[in-house]
Formats: sequence, structure tokens, C-alpha cells
Amino acid sequence: MSDPGSSAPAAPEQASVPKPPIVEFRGVTQTFQYGTPYAFTAIADINFQVEDIPDKGEFITIVGPSGCGKSTLINLIAGFSSHLPPTEGEVLIHGHPVLGPGPDRGMIFQKYSSFPQRTVLDNVGFGLELNRKRLRLSMRDVRETAAEWVKKVGLAGHERKYPSQLSGGQQQRVAIARTLALKPEILLMDEPFSALDEPTRIDMQRLLVDLWHEVHATVFLITHSIAEAVYLGDRVWIFSHSPGRIAVEIRDALPPARGVDPESVMVRPDFLAAIKAVSDEFQRVTEQPT
Ligand code: ADP
Repeated sequence: MSDPGSSAPAAPEQASVPKPPIVEFRGVTQTFQYGTPYAFTAIADINFQVEDIPDKGEFITIVGPSGCGKSTLINLIAGFSSHLPPTEGEVLIHGHPVLGPGPDRGMIFQKYSSFPQRTVLDNVGFGLELNRKRLRLSMRDVRETAAEWVKKVGLAGHERKYPSQLSGGQQQRVAIARTLALKPEILLMDEPFSALDEPTRIDMQRLLVDLWHEVHATVFLITHSIAEAVYLGDRVWIFSHSPGRIAVEIRDALPPARGVDPESVMVRPDFLAAIKAVSDEFQRVTEQPT
């Protein structure tokens, strides 16, 4: 038992070591076919830091003209071999250079990316099965976790169907379930809802927000829709024309909207004002001569 009256030396104050950002770009330039007559610089001198916010994550939405390097940026974070290493600069995750893909990062594309010969349940369980040893899961755990995620994305009853038997929105639900089941720290989404009709897109936004509360990932989402960027983003990045740069970051002007149902947000005056502000900035940035 400790004696409250004793004068034991106080424990030295823990020096708090700042945690490195979860994602950092330091002077990143990506030139495809570098050193050839076809060299093309997709992004130039990109610098940013995204802090690791425990149990919360941050949602970054990215808009910009077509071909300005938005996918290049998230492909670099994903660690695809077609993009690594960047021509100049460093891409860091938790302070370490990205050397390839990893289970800490999940990617969802615009094109439905399920395996056609696997059922919904097997598609959702795919990543879990691949990472079974690392996650210490039995095959039974894999099946149970996959079944839980099938339910979470609203596909209960469709477990035994094949992707070709699903609508576009349902196929994207499969991709979301497969990716989130692995609880990635970083979620990369490349126009995930662009191919869907408006009511389905709104449903998917709703679903994404609900599930995001569960996984607390840091999200980078590319979208053509300014309304979607404003609704989902903690920050909106507007890219300039190629070679792409983050021309503007909008943070303070975004109304707190993400927890609220998208349909009721879309008519709120503060939300409409934010969409107008981001649209005006977008126009200003993209009309600037390159
Ligand atoms: P965005 O996502 O903004 O539409 P991308 O990042 O896909 O733009 O592409 C930026 C530019 O880089 C485009 O002109 C594209 O053709 C080019 N590009 C992208 N990936 C490659 C690659 N692997 N090889 C050559 N050029 C590429």
C-alpha cells in the first residue's frame, strides 16, 4: 500500500511524442512514362497531412475536372505498383513510405468489383478469408462475419445470389461490405456512386454514413457531385487542372450535415449555401488558365 504522506519522487512527466499523420504527401509529383517523349505529369508537388484521429477518422472529399489526377492521388495511397514510387517526393502512412498495398487500406471503385463466380456471401468473405491468419479467424468466423456484413449493407436474403443477379446499387453494397468487413484504417473511394441513379446514390450515402460510424476510417472519396462532397466531407479538396494540385481546401464553410438524413439536408439553407460556395470556388479554380 502506498503511504499518502510519503514524499516519493513524482513520476517524470511523460513527454508526449506527436503521432505522425495517418497520411502525408511531401512534395509528391507523379509523371507517367517519365523520361520518354510521352512523359505526362498527372499531379505536381502535392503536400498535405491528415491527422490520425482515433475512434473517429476524417472524411475528405475530392472534386476537380476530369483527368486532373484525383485517382492518381488515391492510387498512390493505395500503393498500386503502377504508381510507386512517385516520380518525386514521398507518400507516407503513419510516417512510413508506402511500398505496396496493405490490409490497412481498402478501396472501392466506381465499377462494381465483385468476383462473378462467387456468391454474395463468398464475395463479402473474400478479404476476410485472405487475411484469416493475420486476423486469427476460423473459417466459421469468416462465414459469420461475412454474414453479419451482408446484413449490415441490407442484403440479407441475397447471400446465395451471384453478382450478375444483383442491381448496380446492390453490387456496390457487396463491395462496401467486402471492404469494410476488414475494418481498414484508410478507405479510398473512387467515384463509388457515380454509376447509380439519384435515389440509389442517396441510399448509398445514407448507408456509408451509418457504417462509417462503425469503422471510423479515414476516408478519401472522389466524387463529381459537389452536393455529395459537401454532405460527406469534413474537408473538401478542389483540384486544379492537370497537372493536378490541391488548389483549395474548404473546411470551415461546411455545415454539420453528415449525421442527418441526406434528403432533409439537401433542402437546408445552410447546406445549399455551402454547395453554392464550393461550386463558386470550383468554377474559379477550373476557369484559371493552366
Ligand atoms: P482523374 O481521376 O482526376 O480523372 P487520373 O488520376 O485518372 O485523373 O488521371 C490523370 C491523368 O494521368 C490522365 O491524363 C490520365 O490519362 C493519366 N494517367 C493516369 N494513370 C496513368 C498511367 N498508369 N499511365 C499513364 N497515364 C496515366
